[in-house]
Parts: sequence; structure tokens; C-alpha cells
Amino acid sequence: MEAFDYDLFVIGAGSGGVRACRVAANLGARVAVAEERYFGGTCVNVGCVPKKLFSYAAHYRDDLEDSRGFGWTGAEPHFDWSVLLKNKNNEINRLNGIYKAILDNNDVTVFEARATVAGPHEISVAGKTLTARYILLAVGGWPWIPAFEGSEHAISSNEVFHYPELPAAVAIVGGGYIAVEFASILSRLGCDTTLIYRGDRLLRGFDDEVRRFITTEMGRHLDLRLEDDVGKIVNSDNVLSVTLNSGDEIRVNSVLYATGRRPMTANLGLETVGVELAENGAVRVNTHFQTAEPSIYAVGDAIDRVALTPVALAEGQIVARALFSQEKTAMDYTNIPTAVFCHPNLGTVGMTEEQALAKELDIEVYSVTVRQLKHTLSGRDEMSMIKLVVDKPSDRVLGLHMVGPDAGELVQGFAVAMNCGATKADFDRTIGIHPTLAEEFVTLRNLRKDHAAK
Ligand code: FAD
Ligand code: NDP
Repeated sequence: MEAFDYDLFVIGAGSGGVRACRVAANLGARVAVAEERYFGGTCVNVGCVPKKLFSYAAHYRDDLEDSRGFGWTGAEPHFDWSVLLKNKNNEINRLNGIYKAILDNNDVTVFEARATVAGPHEISVAGKTLTARYILLAVGGWPWIPAFEGSEHAISSNEVFHYPELPAAVAIVGGGYIAVEFASILSRLGCDTTLIYRGDRLLRGFDDEVRRFITTEMGRHLDLRLEDDVGKIVNSDNVLSVTLNSGDEIRVNSVLYATGRRPMTANLGLETVGVELAENGAVRVNTHFQTAEPSIYAVGDAIDRVALTPVALAEGQIVARALFSQEKTAMDYTNIPTAVFCHPNLGTVGMTEEQALAKELDIEVYSVTVRQLKHTLSGRDEMSMIKLVVDKPSDRVLGLHMVGPDAGELVQGFAVAMNCGATKADFDRTIGIHPTLAEEFVTLRNLRKDHAAK
């Protein structure tokens, strides 16, 4: 008779949890998972996937406008939100089924219920107490909205995916990934959009020059209020009056708060075990994702390291392999590529110029802003930007940044080159593909002016 009901009990069937279940089960472990809300977690249901579908919808506006300079004419197309919503919901339902099937096909026992920790090896779920050799917390995060007068009228990204109808006017608060992406999406889908951010440029943490560029580009398409914040929201007959700290008042039909997310670790029974939490509720883990309670592990947004789906997947896989095979790999957090799906897209991998300078590295910076060939005929005044941060002594490319169409698609490939230690000379000897925007990366000859002077 086995000492435990399961070898691994995973709480949360999102990106990290499902990956850990599948890998552990394939290695012969007896695995169970509890999911209280939706299979596939945030990414599939209220994150990456529906967001990207909305982003495609938003790009059609640009494409339709751009097509006129290429000779396309005809009746003005009409956008129908209800069609997008219905088709998006169908696709998400299909994906939910696929995630459930992955678990079933790998003989993972599934509890469609909330689970809590009841001891180092005990889990309470569906009115039962079960035991497991290891417990994995893959509970993800939840949007966080600060408390202020009228904050109950604000919605989070969770609700945006289910707007019964598109608001005529929307205010978005925040300057991070979600705020910037939804500002682009909703403005292109026809909402009169105001983006309110407390800082002087969007996307803190990204390369400063890129942030300035994106801030300028975004400001050309919507009402951008920088160094300002919401004081209060008053609801009168479903019109929301938003008073800003600057004294301005704007009237909108919806206020979307995108002010970060918090790990979902409250009321999880963690007080019954030795698991330690950071102030924001993030589970504290060591390099092997093990908590202070040796039988309990945690991955993904719950540990609040890098809140991206591919990172949660990689962490879940590393834990499962470490527990049930001889493979002990450490997670490498350097050179994680990422994209922000705003208009234009932003893609980046490696160090920002500021990070390199903070490490006192001797760097060279190459950067150009260009107008895409397409826009010579489309007439769009959108610019693109390409930037490389290079370590002068070794010639290695430390950071690669791009603002432009499909930046995520492009930067993914360059991330491989960066992981192989590509140098600026390697970039330079690579033949370009002409005419593309990507070829700018292999034809960057001139140092940025301030660096040329050094
Ligand atoms: P989750 O995917 O959140 O899964 C956690 C699961 O645990 C949930 O299903 C939850 O219901 C369940 N759960 C929680 N507590 C319990 C409990 N006690 N019992 C049972 N079940 C429980 N990342 C990208 O890489 N690219 C993107 O384009 C991108 N876009 C995003 C857009 C938005 C709007 C948001 C909000 C996020 C986006 N992200 C994106 C981030 C990405 O979604 C997350 O980093 C990723 O989903 C984290 O995976 P996870 O497994 O840690 O958690
Ligand atoms: P972010 O952490 O990216 O941004 C939060 C924003 O809210 C920041 O601009 C922050 O300002 C601002 N803010 C925080 N607190 C307050 C406050 N009290 N009042 C006013 N503004 C405030 O979080 P998001 O919610 O945008 O997204 C969560 C995470 O999900 C992201 O960090 C990312 O990891 C992931 N994600 C990834 C995507 C992708 O890969 N494309 C897309 C969407 C989400 P400040 O900078 O000044 O602190």
C-alpha cells in the first residue's frame, strides 16, 4: 500500500500547473490536480489568448485604413463586438476542453473544486482530505485595484473580456503591459480612450529610449494623461465621472484598472504549514522552487518572479522533472524574450541600456528609427525603432529591442541568437532579408550619436 494517495498534488490547472501535471505523469508519478475556475488558467481564459485575439481584431482597423493607399476602396466596414465576443468565447471553450483532455489523457485525477493545504502532505478538496508526497502551488494571480473613493466602479482585465457591449468612452489606469495593450486594443476597436498613468513614461522596467518612443507613439492615438492619477469616481446613471488629481474631470462609460496583479495565496491554508509569503502574498521559494516547507513547491505567478506564461511553463516542468527524474535543471531567467502587444508592438530580449550601465559595463548603443516601406503608400505616420546594446570588450549583444509590427515574432528568433552568445560582428556578417524591417538588425552600422562621441 502506497504511503500517500498521490505522488504530486497540484493546486491550479493554469499554465504552470498543467505543465507540471503532464510532465510528472509522463515520468510515472501518480498525479492529481484541483482547479476551481477554468482549465488553462489566466492565459487561456482572461489573459494572453483572448487578449491576442482582441489585438488581431484591433489591427484590422489599421490594415483597413492602410489598404486605401494601395488601391483598395469600398464601403466602410462596420465592427460588431458581439461577433468577436461570441467567436472568442467559442475558441476559449474549445481550449478549455483541450486542457482538460491533456489532464485526462495523462491519467491525472482532476478535481473541479477549490483546494487548500491542510498540512505538509495534506490537501482539503471536495470535502475530502487527501495526501500527497509533494504539493505544488500553481495558483496564479488576480488583478489588484487600489482602494479609493468610487473604486468599486472600476473593473479589471477579467471583466474586459466579457463586456456585454463596448463602452463608447473608457478610461484605463496604469502604465504596464495590460494598460498599454488594452489602450491600443480598445482605442482601435472604436472606444474613445483615455490612458492615465502616474509616471512620466509608460512601461517601467523596459529600456528607457523604447519607453519614450512607445509613449510618443501611443500618445498620438489616444488621450494620454501622464503624471496624473484618479482621485475619485462618481457614478451617475451609468456615466462615470472620473476626477483626476490634476483637477481634470473626464466622463466615461467604463474605468479599467490595470495596476498589477497579486498572487492568489490568501485563505489557501498556508498557515497550517511552514510556507513563507512575501508582503504581496508571493510564495517564497528557493532556486528549486521549494518553499520553507520541504514537501511543498510553488511556480508561476504565485511566486511573482516573471509573470509570463512561458516562464510558468518552464518552472512547472523543472519542478516535475526534478521531483520524478534525475534531471535537475536550474531556471535561467536571463534573456527571457517578451512582447507587449500594443500598437506598434514592442519586443525585447536581454538587457536594457540602463541595466547595462547600472552594472558598469562598457557598452555601445546602436539605435535607429525608421518608417516602414509599407507606410510610404499607406500614409500612416507610424515609426518603428530598432536598438542593440553591445558589450564593447566582448562585442556580445547584451540587449535587443524593437518597436514595430510583429515585434514578438521577430524577437523570438533573435533570442535564440542571444542565447548562443551572438556578437555584433555575427549580426553584421548575416545577410539581410530585403525589404524588411528585420534587416535593420543586421545593417546597424552607426553608433547612436551620444555613443559615437565617446
Ligand atoms: P494561472 O494561469 O493564473 O493559473 C492558476 C490557476 O489556479 C487558475 O486557473 C485558478 O483558477 C487556479 N486556482 C487558484 N487557486 C486555486 C485553489 N485554491 N484551488 C483550485 N484552483 C485554484 N503572459 C504572456 O506570456 N504573454 C501574454 O501575452 C500575456 N498576456 C496576459 C494578458 C492578461 C490580461 C493577463 C492578466 C496576463 C497575461 N499574461 C501573459 C500573463 C500570464 O497569463 C500568466 O503569467 C500565466 O497565466 C501564469 O500562469 P500560472 O500557472 O502561474 O497561473
Ligand atoms: P504591471 O506590473 O505590468 O503594471 C502595473 C502598472 O500599474 C504600472 O504602470 C504601475 O505603475 C501601475 N500602478 C501600480 N500601483 C498603482 C497605484 N496604486 N496607482 C496607480 N498606478 C499604479 O501589471 P499589469 O497589471 O499590467 O500586468 C500584470 C503582469 O501580467 C505583467 O507584469 C506581465 O508580467 C503580465 N502580462 C504580460 C503580458 C505580455 O506578455 N504581453 C500582457 C499582460 C500582462 P509604476 O510603473 O509607476 O509602478
